Amino acid sequence: MLLIEVSQIPPEGLDVDAPLDPGEVHLEGEESFVLGSGGSLRCNLERGDDRTVHVRGALAARLRLQCGRCLEPFDFQVAQDLDLFYLPHRGEQEEEEDEVELKDHEMVVAYYRDERLDLGEMIREQFFLSLPMTRLCRDACLGLCPTCGANRNLAPCGCPPAADPRLLVLGKLLDGGSS
Ligand SMILES: [Zn+2]
Ligand SMILES: [Zn+2]
Repeated sequence: MLLIEVSQIPPEGLDVDAPLDPGEVHLEGEESFVLGSGGSLRCNLERGDDRTVHVRGALAARLRLQCGRCLEPFDFQVAQDLDLFYLPHRGEQEEEEDEVELKDHEMVVAYYRDERLDLGEMIREQFFLSLPMTRLCRDACLGLCPTCGANRNLAPCGCPPAADPRLLVLGKLLDGGSS
């Protein structure tokens, strides 16, 4: 359903409204996140005379990520507007020229091969583009205790706090002031 034969796009354009399936989005073996249920792709495809394909629409999905501090899973919402141009893939050299040319027009350009546009591949790329650099279940996540390994979001573990050099300096200043 997400694999589009470019020659089959009618002159008036093609509307796509598809639920996201991990298999179609090529996420087999992907370990850094899991696609939750309920995601969707809604877009319109228009084919130009020169076989370019203009994709416009919206991508919505829920990804399950792992918190980098406490290692617990959490949900991350993807809500991405799409406005992309696809060109038929030809030689490598031509591709470079196209890219330079189109950069002037500030378009987002990608390529399709073998007369087929794989929207699943596009979605996969969009997921990677929207993933946050730092994956935290919440900004204030307390993470795991470096001493006993307990999740400090759930309960304080009772270990003495790890020495923070900034606090040691502060402590010395305070000691100096009181004596
Ligand atoms: Zn966390
Ligand atoms: Zn601890």
